Amino acid sequence: MAYATINPYNNEVVKEYPYATDEELHAALATGHALYKKTRQQPIADRAKILHNVAAKLREHADELARACTIDMGKLLRESEGEVELCAIIADWFADHGEELLKPEVLDTIATGHAEVQHHATGIVMMVEPWNFPYYQIMRVFAPNYMVGNPMILKHAGNTPTSAQLFADIVLEAGAPAGALTNLFLSYDQVTEAIEDKRVQGVALTGSERGGTAVAEAAGKNLKKNTMELGGMDPFVVLGDANMDDVIDIAWRARLYNAGQVCTSSKRFIVMDNVYDQFVDALKEKFSKVVPGDPLDPNTSLAPMNTKRAKEKLQKQLDGAIAAGANVVYGNEPIDLPGQFFMPTILTDIDKNNPAYKEEMFGPVAAVYKVHSEEEAIELANDNPYGLGGIVFSGNADHGAEVAAQIETGMVFVNNFMVTLPELPFGGVKLSGYGREMSQIGELAFTNEQLIVKADKPNLDNVAGGLVATDPAPVTQ
Ligand code: NAP
Repeated sequence: MAYATINPYNNEVVKEYPYATDEELHAALATGHALYKKTRQQPIADRAKILHNVAAKLREHADELARACTIDMGKLLRESEGEVELCAIIADWFADHGEELLKPEVLDTIATGHAEVQHHATGIVMMVEPWNFPYYQIMRVFAPNYMVGNPMILKHAGNTPTSAQLFADIVLEAGAPAGALTNLFLSYDQVTEAIEDKRVQGVALTGSERGGTAVAEAAGKNLKKNTMELGGMDPFVVLGDANMDDVIDIAWRARLYNAGQVCTSSKRFIVMDNVYDQFVDALKEKFSKVVPGDPLDPNTSLAPMNTKRAKEKLQKQLDGAIAAGANVVYGNEPIDLPGQFFMPTILTDIDKNNPAYKEEMFGPVAAVYKVHSEEEAIELANDNPYGLGGIVFSGNADHGAEVAAQIETGMVFVNNFMVTLPELPFGGVKLSGYGREMSQIGELAFTNEQLIVKADKPNLDNVAGGLVATDPAPVTQ
């Protein structure tokens, strides 16, 4: 896909961007590698200062950044503003804690001397990011790796080039050296070429299974460490004793936030039979209240989807689900606006053979299932190829946490909306990918865990298991 900002609210082509040349890619690799070598000699505290500056610059330019993000991919302006602030929070957190997280770990060992694991930079990280949170997706990789000292090359989504370039410009304006984050409008082949290059030592992708498989294959072929943050069909489990006011207040937001285009959106509502009818009626009511319109207008509460292609794909999936027997209890009607609007829709009666049972729908479509026991709820939650996040509502938070622990996903929130914060690891299992971003786990994703054992003198007495050569036998002629 070529790179262009096309406003999904009115379909205006705002700006097109040419692909990067091979020379630009080669120059970015050379600059990044030189920076990696140089950074190894510099105190990490210097990088913390710059990362705080990045946070300050994001806040200083918040209005411009938020507007650009909304025009790139359509989200409500207040959601874009929230995203910019979240990025600043992440930058500040890694600036404050990054050094501590990288402290060497002393090992308790019978080996002679002092043993510790040090965490060192490894080289350039190639990051491939999606459009749904144009700044936050970059920041999840950028902040920890900047502290580590890994330079980064960014390939962002074809439809959010303006946001991508603005983010990279902010990093430079904040005082980071050239090469710390180079945004390039790369083709897929150029991404593969970068991954093949020996100066690239890590690959981070957030996106779909399609993109993830292609990039992970290139990383695997070249033995490059990689993290994959992929799709999800997160369950939202409502137990029979849940506080239904809280459930309703959170449920519609968990599906419609960002026009339903969130990896951790609640895509499957699994509801106990005694509260099922109440839940469906209330969800219908909430969905009927949203107001489609210009996402820059504060009165709008339903944003357009990010592209015409995304809307058409969702409609096709919805048509397929209905043809396979799903019942539309609300929605699936056209919205009379030129932009890429999709009416919030509620589906029930999705059986196991329905494609909607196992296919991620990346837009405002809620699938609601009725269950008759907790065991059935857990089984249904786990009968899915994805394993990213989830929400459990229970009248008893401790019991909710016991249910949460039986759900096969990377993150579960009990009695609350899912939040993402720098101190919390983010990621999934199964087809939702592997590895984690943010927190200490994210900071160590692309480090060399180097073992250093130091002693004043050799000592062969305490070597366990005969792992050292015995004295050579005398040579006889
Ligand atoms: P996508 O098509 O996989 O795109 C993501 C990124 O990968 C884009 O930059 C895309 O570039 C690039 N890409 C795709 N194929 C590639 C290839 N063969 N070689 C190199 N780069 C390639 O994903 P999407 O459908 O736009 O994004 C939505 C998906 O992301 C959903 O499934 C969602 O659940 C998932 N997601 C996951 C997380 C998480 O943290 N787990 C967070 C957000 C979204 P182009 O734009 O140029 O195609």
